[in-house]
Amino acid sequence: MIAYNLESINKELPSGVKLVAVSKFHPFEAILEAYSEGQRAFGESRPQEFASKAVQLPLDIEWHFIGHLQTNKLKLVLPYAYLVESIDTEHLLDAVNAWGEKNGKTISVLLEVHIGAEETKQGLTPAEVVALLGRAVEFPFICFRGLMGMASHTDDEHAIRGDFANIKGLFDECRRLYPELKDFDQLSIGMSDDWRIALDYGCTEVRIGTAIFGNREY
Ligand SMILES: *Cc1c(COP(=O)(O)O)cnc(C)c1O
Repeated sequence: MIAYNLESINKELPSGVKLVAVSKFHPFEAILEAYSEGQRAFGESRPQEFASKAVQLPLDIEWHFIGHLQTNKLKLVLPYAYLVESIDTEHLLDAVNAWGEKNGKTISVLLEVHIGAEETKQGLTPAEVVALLGRAVEFPFICFRGLMGMASHTDDEHAIRGDFANIKGLFDECRRLYPELKDFDQLSIGMSDDWRIALDYGCTEVRIGTAIFGNREY
C-alpha cells in the first residue's frame, strides 16, 4: 500500500515540488518500505522519535523536523536535522542559533507562520516574520530557507485557498523585501487533504503523512 500511495502521489506532483513523507508515529518498517521505493525525505514531529529514527535508519535519509520544538530538546533534533520547519518563536530561533554557534553547524530553518483560523495558535504572525527576517544578520548560524504553514482544518476549500493565498503573499513579500537572503526559496504548504490545492499557490514542498502511511495510532 505504501508503495502504491507513493507512486500515485509522485505521478501527480510537478517536478520541483519535494515530497516529505511524514512518518511520525509509524514504525521503522514503514519508513524502510518507503525508502526502498526511493523516498528519501521524511518528516517527524517528536524530538525523541526523530532522534531514534535518525540514528538507526539509513544515513542518506533527509530528516525534516516539523513539530513543536522546546529549547531543552535541541540536542535530540539539531545534530540530525536537514531542515527544521517549525521555528515558531524568536526565543526558539535564538536558542537554535546559539546551539549552532556552540556546535559549529549552520541550521537550515523555515519560519512557521500562523495562517489558519486554527484553535492552535502555533506560529509567528506575518508581521513577526517580516520583522525577524529584517534582523537575519543577528542569527549567523541560521540559514533562513523559507516559510511553513498549515491551512485551517476544514472542508471549506474556499477557506483553505484563502490561507494558502495569504502565506504565498507573505512569502513573495519577504523575497521582495530581503533579496539578500539568497537561500530563502522554500514554501512548505500542503498535507494529505489539501496538497493538490497547495500546488496552485507555488508550494515547493508538501508534507504528506496519512495519504502515504495510513492512519496514525496515537
Ligand atoms: C502530521 C503533520 C503533517 C502530515 O499530516 P497528514 O494529514 O497526515 O498528511 C504535515 N505537517 C505537519 C506540521 C504535521 O504535524
